[in-house]
Amino acid sequence: MQNHTTPVEATLLDMMRRRADTYEDKLAFGFSYDGDDENSRRLTYRELDTRARAIAAGLQAQGAAGERVLVLCRPGLDHIAGIFGCIYAGAVAVPVHERLAPRLSSVVPDARARFALGVAETHESIKSALVGLGEGQDLQWGLLDEVSADAAEWVAPDVDADATAMVQYTSGSTTSPKGVVLTHRNLMHNMESIRQSWPGDDTDIGCLWLPSHHDMGLIGGVFSMVYLGCSTHLMSPTSFVKRPMRWMEAISRHRATYTVAPNFAYDLCVEHSTAEERAALDLSSLTTAMNGAEPVRAASLQAFAAAFASAGFRPEAFSAVYGLAEATLLVSGGSDSDLPLVGHVDREALTRDRIVDGVAGDRSVAVVGCGRPRAGEVAIVNPVTRRRCEVNEVGEIWLSGPGVAQGYWARPKETEHTFAASTADTSEGPFLRTGDLGFLAAGELFITGRCKDLIVIRGGNHYPNDIELTVQGCHPALVSGRGAAFAFTPGLRQVERLVIVQEVDSDRIDAAELAPVIDKVRATVTERYGIDTHSVVLVERVSIPTTSSGKIQRGMCRQQFLDGELSPVAQWQTPSAADD
Ligand code: ATP
Ligand code: MG
Repeated sequence: MQNHTTPVEATLLDMMRRRADTYEDKLAFGFSYDGDDENSRRLTYRELDTRARAIAAGLQAQGAAGERVLVLCRPGLDHIAGIFGCIYAGAVAVPVHERLAPRLSSVVPDARARFALGVAETHESIKSALVGLGEGQDLQWGLLDEVSADAAEWVAPDVDADATAMVQYTSGSTTSPKGVVLTHRNLMHNMESIRQSWPGDDTDIGCLWLPSHHDMGLIGGVFSMVYLGCSTHLMSPTSFVKRPMRWMEAISRHRATYTVAPNFAYDLCVEHSTAEERAALDLSSLTTAMNGAEPVRAASLQAFAAAFASAGFRPEAFSAVYGLAEATLLVSGGSDSDLPLVGHVDREALTRDRIVDGVAGDRSVAVVGCGRPRAGEVAIVNPVTRRRCEVNEVGEIWLSGPGVAQGYWARPKETEHTFAASTADTSEGPFLRTGDLGFLAAGELFITGRCKDLIVIRGGNHYPNDIELTVQGCHPALVSGRGAAFAFTPGLRQVERLVIVQEVDSDRIDAAELAPVIDKVRATVTERYGIDTHSVVLVERVSIPTTSSGKIQRGMCRQQFLDGELSPVAQWQTPSAADD
């Protein structure tokens, strides 16, 4: 594929049709469940095109062109064919996972679609689940695995780059998921931005487990691979969760060159593998292992690289990326440096939004460079004064460019707030407010955390992700990546206090031994951050709420804490007199 800065095709439809012509019988996607053989679940480019045309012909016959269509089935080839079917019909695809009840109950009423695509096995049960929620009675269903229409009946729709292609829901880490309206132009430009962030071409082989309902799985996994004309091996997310090493085994088996996942997935592979299992693999083919969607931890990169060196994994393959659904997906990624840049910034200065170089150790925070901005102009802006920050100052990441979405579906107020920001002094804009804090250094974007999650105590800004990492370093039984730190105001005193909820692996420690662990957590937090902890709550594994893509939902965890809904294995709380 030639080097270019604007996408060759104007729409996803043009892209997919052209790839089918070019790549014909080349494998587009293979899919495996529970580590099984994917032989019966493979689609070539030509087959994907034929299936998409048949699904589209059915949708067109129902009158769904231009309408929102829920694609409601579990991850797999049907889901991918369904999304392309919507695109081919000139309809607006709304990807939803059928089994994730909390997501169904917020996304389906929000999307207000009249059409849905499902599979024969599950669509009846989804229908009744929806009716139970008081929703979906009027949905007109089409079946993805029993398509009655003929591909030859398909009529190419009249769509251009400005037509809406999708409503992509956000992960729901901070609030209930919001639908982001994406045009073909948004998607095509973002795929080109992704392409620029790694040296991919049609000889690459993808391998990933991310759900195709999620922005990173669908755009970073499925669409981007079609954009380049690659073959991609997918596995079900549950298959990965049951045994994370299946992901690495699949990379080794398929000689994959490209993968993408959030940081916790790399941690899980280290944690749930033996030296023998790792040494039996060959990961030397992997040239790009993207890490994004949540904070990228330097310690995770190091641990993974060390653990998988015996499998031939090269740390240069790591590529930290940053993005969000409101920007279609990618904002920054791809570095000029061979290894991801790691900066050590002084922790005390960071509480005052200042970046001062520190040395590696307890007094500094390690931050990983998330690559060069690729998708437009990035501005670092003080979220309160709306003035551009100075160099070495942390601020909110604002973005303008062709990847910025059209807004939130049916939420004009939130759209205005998030998508139409302008700087106060120079009136530059419109910018997308990402809600994330960070800074630019050495040509790369560094993310420090989310505005909403920031813990402000006595005027100092503390990042929950940093506090959680510190907590998890206090004892090996405290599960890495599975904690939530947040602030709350106990009683009338109106002073924010710190609460830490952390999962503990009870196979590794007896409940009776947890009191000294809690003491260590409190002492370490006080020493490092200069703040006392109000409560430490240790809970069982997998009890902190997360999104379907595994992101910690701190706000929801805080609510559970306030409502007394957590089930502690052990806990400590400031004596109440101290609150008065
Ligand atoms: P919601 O908006 O519904 O609360 P969400 O923000 O998690 O959920 P997404 O758009 O899927 O939904 O995720 C984008 C967010 O993920 C970013 O705004 C940022 O907070 C976080 N993120 C993505 N990449 C990185 C990264 N490299 N480092 C730190 N955070 C990241
Ligand atoms: Mg968000």
